[in-house]
Amino acid sequence: MSDPVFSLPRPENWKTRGACVGQWQEFDAEESKRSKDHRTQLRLCATCPVLQECRIDTVRTRPNGGIRAGEVLGVRSERKFQRIAEAAGIDYVPPAAQSELQPCGTYAAYQRHMRRKEKVCDECRRAMVQKSQSRRRAS
Ligand code: SF4
Ligand SMILES: [Zn+2]
Repeated sequence: MSDPVFSLPRPENWKTRGACVGQWQEFDAEESKRSKDHRTQLRLCATCPVLQECRIDTVRTRPNGGIRAGEVLGVRSERKFQRIAEAAGIDYVPPAAQSELQPCGTYAAYQRHMRRKEKVCDECRRAMVQKSQSRRRAS
């Protein structure tokens, strides 16, 4: 069973030490949606030796579903990410606020200009061109 969220573990990867190793399908977004009883998985998280690493990774990567770091995630899990960040002792900056913090010359700032119907500055226009070029290269 492939794991869509956790990349294939390498020996030095903390994920190889997760209590969920070998049971990733149970933690998978689709599988966890089907299952109504998540107690066993949540218990594994609670005693997981890499719970702290997993919390930080979850807050950073913001998966859209599945079970991570003791929470059953869904598409809109902002409060849960916040809770996980608090448990990890780190600050959680929601993506909307992150984009507010980006300076001109970034794609997020370009989008902000557009949202606010402002004139797009040269730096942001360049960032937008770069983004669409790299998207074209990737496709
Ligand atoms: S905290 Fe839970 S989801 Fe994260 S690695 Fe451990 S068992 Fe897996
Ligand atoms: Zn700008």
